[in-house]
Amino acid sequence: MAKIQFGTNNPSTLTSTSPPPAYSPSLSLANSSKRRSDTAIQPNILFNSISALDSSNNTTATAVQSISATHIHRIIGVRLPRRSPQKLYDILLTKGKIAEVSPHNPRMPSLSHLPGILLGNGRLIAPSLCHAHIHLDKCFLLSDPAYSDLSIQHGTFDEAMSLTQQAKARFTHDDLLRRGRRLVLESLRAGVTAMRAFVEVDATVEMLCLDAGIELQEQFRGLCEIQLCAFAQVPLFSGTDGGDAARKLMREAAKRGEVAVVGSAPYVEAEEVKARMNVRWLAGLAKGEGKALDFHLDYFGIERQPMVHDVVSILKSVAWVEQRSDTQPVCLGHCTRLARWTPAEWRRLKEQIEEAKLDVSFVGLPTSDLFMMKDKSTLNPVELVRDHQLNAAIAVNNVGNAFTPQGSCDPITVASLGVGLYSAGTKFDASLLYNCVSSRAKSAIGLDSIPSPGLHEGQPADFVLFGSGESDWTSPRAVTDVVYNPGAVSNRQIISAGRLLNFSR
Ligand SMILES: [Zn+2]
Repeated sequence: MAKIQFGTNNPSTLTSTSPPPAYSPSLSLANSSKRRSDTAIQPNILFNSISALDSSNNTTATAVQSISATHIHRIIGVRLPRRSPQKLYDILLTKGKIAEVSPHNPRMPSLSHLPGILLGNGRLIAPSLCHAHIHLDKCFLLSDPAYSDLSIQHGTFDEAMSLTQQAKARFTHDDLLRRGRRLVLESLRAGVTAMRAFVEVDATVEMLCLDAGIELQEQFRGLCEIQLCAFAQVPLFSGTDGGDAARKLMREAAKRGEVAVVGSAPYVEAEEVKARMNVRWLAGLAKGEGKALDFHLDYFGIERQPMVHDVVSILKSVAWVEQRSDTQPVCLGHCTRLARWTPAEWRRLKEQIEEAKLDVSFVGLPTSDLFMMKDKSTLNPVELVRDHQLNAAIAVNNVGNAFTPQGSCDPITVASLGVGLYSAGTKFDASLLYNCVSSRAKSAIGLDSIPSPGLHEGQPADFVLFGSGESDWTSPRAVTDVVYNPGAVSNRQIISAGRLLNFSR
């Protein structure tokens, strides 16, 4: 077991005016590498990208090519969310979970000479991040030279559908792995340890995207939980064949054990009655195969009637709740049509959801909505949680494609965007925004039943440490600081299942 030590073990460096230990992830990697050679103890190499695949076509520079990890037993002297930034804490970890959180005693020896001790040096630690909604297969199409002829000319939804459809006709297994791997690596580097990854299933790609998703799921097992959603972006009841081919393929996909969720976009159906058929059919499929449900719903302005009431009624009529022994939530993404609802309309929906005993989570996708919705409609998750006591999260959705050309894999940038977009600048609101890309996002996709922004005993030891180790006011001391200014991902350290991840080229 390698010892991890950053800087000195002198707690006075936390408040001292003397220069704090210079910390950077690259330095820590160098230090730990040196220590490994000193002690001949190697951290586990958990991931090696297939560099030959990346270099052979010279299309995508993979930011990180290997990840190693070292078990951590104790984290010493960190700041915690929802606690006074003036106080430091120690965290004891056992079997990948938090065993104890206790006040830091600077008079106690840090025991940093022992294996598995991580010195926090006063940095902020917070629950890791989660993509509640991200498309694994159609990422980076705009930057990938293989698709350079498919650039945006108009920036409309129809164009995005058309360009993506053309790209999908060229997808290959290796191409999907190459782009998907980049998405997972860049997400993991930002602090994402879990994601709901949408992979499309239709007559064009058949099982190609799903097979690549399953391979990535396996490659990153233990590092980042990739929860796969087999997704029908195409109609299930419209078109020349009435959706026959898409439904047949979705039935096949839903039988795969690696698939946890099935999803669709009812708004692509030609008529409202077919959109309702889409919801009912998919709910039946999910029920029969024991999968969770995720709809891209009400993705339009006020020109059409919302479908969310129909979804709740249909789930009630198919006895969705009675079918589940667990409490797998139903996710509804986009919902831009609901952005201008009055409080009374939200109250009515909440009553309907409660009456049906459903666990519904709304996932706002603001970066996509801002680009696609010309009236800038986008769901406000802060209001949903704060004012209506509904479950909500926000997510990246797409990276580098015609649906969302702008943005990165870092969910905190979306939370930060939310400060301005929702005028959510109070400490409460900004903290809630962090939670919407962290614990609430995990809860929305059924991975964490307690959407707590704090750290508590028994919680999985999945964390992000923020800051460069500077102990003065320039280093983030609360999650609000991080949401106001996400900073560089290179100033974050990631702990996944109680193991500190080292990223190297
Ligand atoms: Zn989506």
